Amino acid sequence: MPKAELHCHLDGSLRPETMLDLAREHGITLPRQDPGELRSYMCANNVSDLGDYLHRFDTTISILQTATALERVAYELVQDASRDGLRYIEVRNAPHLNIHAGLTVDEVIEATMRGLARGESEFGTIARFITCSLRHWAPARSLEAAQAAVRHKNSGVVGFDLAGAEAEFSAADHASAFAYAREHFLQITCHAGEAAGPASVEAALFDCNVSRIGHGVRAGEEPALLDYIRDTGITLEMCPTSNEQTHAVASYAQHPLKRYLDSGVRVTINTDSRLISGVTLTDEYVRAVNELGLTIADLCHCVMNACEAAFLPFTERAALIASVRAELERDWGYKA
Ligand SMILES: [Zn+2]
Repeated sequence: MPKAELHCHLDGSLRPETMLDLAREHGITLPRQDPGELRSYMCANNVSDLGDYLHRFDTTISILQTATALERVAYELVQDASRDGLRYIEVRNAPHLNIHAGLTVDEVIEATMRGLARGESEFGTIARFITCSLRHWAPARSLEAAQAAVRHKNSGVVGFDLAGAEAEFSAADHASAFAYAREHFLQITCHAGEAAGPASVEAALFDCNVSRIGHGVRAGEEPALLDYIRDTGITLEMCPTSNEQTHAVASYAQHPLKRYLDSGVRVTINTDSRLISGVTLTDEYVRAVNELGLTIADLCHCVMNACEAAFLPFTERAALIASVRAELERDWGYKA
């Protein structure tokens, strides 16, 4: 099925073989030396909470400190996305994590963009970049990340996001970064409703004014909030396997994705990260059918939601919507 993905972290989506190559180049010893063993080690199937989940990223970030490493993993991610049937992917990363060996934030973004652009031209999957900040950082650093994103707005950066320790830090602390992005006409999204409840989603919506929410799985704990999200067309970037791993839901079977979709919320399905979540987007779609009861029509609906909520400029977005819709109509019986 042709697909689009809005929520995929670069530093969680490396190939194990590439990790071992990069570790050798950097003189770093990884916790496992065999690609298969490293893949299982990195997968977050047995973590205690979001903090433990995020710990996995320390390993990948340690080897993502050069322009060549960033360009390579970005390029390979587009190839993996293409093999996974994606027509469009938004890749996200917090560039301040990659400046420990002397790169500037701008150099990090430019290297990543080179990899995405090269992947797009070779494999055909449209690939754009979302610059992130993290909640536990000082708001001034978030503002710097938003400013860097705006500087690269016309060369492939399509959005700004805030990720990280949601239970401990409010998105409201970073409102000035979101305001800067918005005032410079850059689109914005925010991780919320994953490790914290409705109040955190409200902070993202009303203090930061985002049009999409990363996860939003716990928004339904306040039914009026979920109604508002549906009524205003806010898009949820849902990542069910990741939510199971971080215990944002009690079990996969209890994930509200299908319930939200049936109630009219603009739901999209995403991996969060391919290596850490241990899934492709195809895996997520199959799992949603087998374990949440989604129909093929539901999947088509989620694909179109993702195309419609893409942070692409209008003309490119319209072209993406038209071509994916035509494929879904031709091959999957989709009817709008
Ligand atoms: Zn995420």
